[in-house]
Amino acid sequence: MADPKGFLTTDREVAKTRPVDERVKDWNEVYVPGSLLPIISKQAGRCMDCGIPFCHNGCPLGNLIPEWNDYAYREDWREASERLHATNNFPEFTGRLCPAPCESACVLGINQPAVTIKNVEVTIIDKAWDAGDVTPQPPERLSGKTVAVIGSGPAGLAAAQQLTRAGHTVAVYERADRIGGLLRYGIPEFKMEKRHINRRIEQMRAEGTKFRTETEIGRDIDAAKLRKRYDAVVIAAGATTSRDLKVPGRELNGIHFAMEYLPLANKVQEGDLTTPPITAEGKHVVVIGGGDTGADCVGTAHRQGAASVTQLEIMPKPGEERSEGQPWPTFPMLYKVTSAHEEGGERVYSVSTTHFEGDEDGNVQWLHLIEVEFKDGKLEQKPGTERRIPAQLVTLAMGFTGTDRENGLVEQFGLELDERGNVARDADFATNVPGVFVAGDAGRGQSLIVWAIAEGRSAARGVDRYLAGASALPAPIRPTDRALMV
Ligand SMILES: Cc1cc2nc3c(=O)[nH]c(=O)nc-3n(C[C@H](O)[C@H](O)[C@H](O)COP(=O)(O)OP(=O)(O)OC[C@H]3O[C@@H](n4cnc5c(N)ncnc54)[C@H](O)[C@@H]3O)c2cc1C
Ligand code: SF4
Repeated sequence: MADPKGFLTTDREVAKTRPVDERVKDWNEVYVPGSLLPIISKQAGRCMDCGIPFCHNGCPLGNLIPEWNDYAYREDWREASERLHATNNFPEFTGRLCPAPCESACVLGINQPAVTIKNVEVTIIDKAWDAGDVTPQPPERLSGKTVAVIGSGPAGLAAAQQLTRAGHTVAVYERADRIGGLLRYGIPEFKMEKRHINRRIEQMRAEGTKFRTETEIGRDIDAAKLRKRYDAVVIAAGATTSRDLKVPGRELNGIHFAMEYLPLANKVQEGDLTTPPITAEGKHVVVIGGGDTGADCVGTAHRQGAASVTQLEIMPKPGEERSEGQPWPTFPMLYKVTSAHEEGGERVYSVSTTHFEGDEDGNVQWLHLIEVEFKDGKLEQKPGTERRIPAQLVTLAMGFTGTDRENGLVEQFGLELDERGNVARDADFATNVPGVFVAGDAGRGQSLIVWAIAEGRSAARGVDRYLAGASALPAPIRPTDRALMV
């Protein structure tokens, strides 16, 4: 156990963020560099090393949290990193981006603020990189088997790293020009600087994983041909089809899916563009959708110099405390103030967009909305509450409806889909097509990075068993558990 009295003597303290005025002028991560190191060992010391560590179950990766809290408390960073990597290929991604369901499940959280698990995680991995402890781990011998991974998001990368280390020859196919999936083109730089992806890719290349960018399976290479060329295939193509808002005026200029808007800002940061073709500069911006993708649009619009930013959500404002229906240790849907919300803008709840109004040139100028309320379990409009708000750039961040159906991948493989439109799979992450597996959002539906990594690891074990008859790769923790799904 870290510090037997730590939870009694130390208050929860989290990473400090840079002042809003400073950080909206740049795209760097919002945290004060180095602010965690002086406090983190004491914070790790708050861990009670519970007999039944509910945080393990809260984390889809089953991260060994009390073990690395103990090492972090003792400042044995190398051992802490070993334990962290035992269950998580990419803790620098989750340590920055995870909503930390582990903290919602922390036993201390029953009557006190939870242990700062995510902050401990990111400190351990950042120290490991700084100390040169994250090194390539190439396999000792090759199996002679080949695997194609389709998609280079966290699911594809985790599957590829596990399978390469198991001795298989792995090629990752990515339709974009850079590796990383939504980590690269979606999640803004101010949430995670892309240098963290780049150094992992270097590690993976040194281990033997091959990467083929600008190659879309289904369009550039027929999926059935790919299947014949490789001994097994992992589909980790994400769930990238955006949900649309089919109301009058949708065709006006200036209304874009979030995933048309956000990647352009990423491309500016990569140095590919000097200015983004879609920008919030000087405009009244409305973001439709109250989730994380919406928050990323809000933070991006602030940095581009929007005149105003309004985020609309059809559901009522969530509570600030757990309700009876969301008891500990579930992951509750609570009111969240993200770093983007700290930076400004207005959030409006319980409203629905009725139509858009444009100028004579076909550019959107106004968004018309109406208040809504739940009546007998149904969402109903409140008569007399219509109004319009200025809107010169509108981003649609209302979720995703499943994997891309336009490139022919699903049909060419002959894949079965489940009732939600995702690629159907069994407990081994195998699809209906022999030798073809699926991991991450493509099989699960739009979810979280931590789930994508967990599923990539689990699918890798399924593939390894398929190719070799048995596998020494770690077993999935809770592969299809939707009860605590976040
Ligand atoms: C804007 C945004 C912000 C988010 N923020 C967070 C966050 O802060 N924390 C969090 O936990 N989760 C977040 N998420 C969710 C998270 O990013 C996803 O759940 C996760 O990236 C899914 O990983 P994946 O590997 O399954 O798919 P993806 O990351 O979507 O990667 C799939 C990849 O497959 C490629 N591809 C698709 N089809 C083909 C094909 N036919 N051939 C070749 N390549 C193909 C795509 O180009 C893409 O690169 C966010 C999502 C969005 C959209
Ligand atoms: S990956 Fe997420 S859930 Fe798991 S320990 Fe890290 S922050 Fe917690």
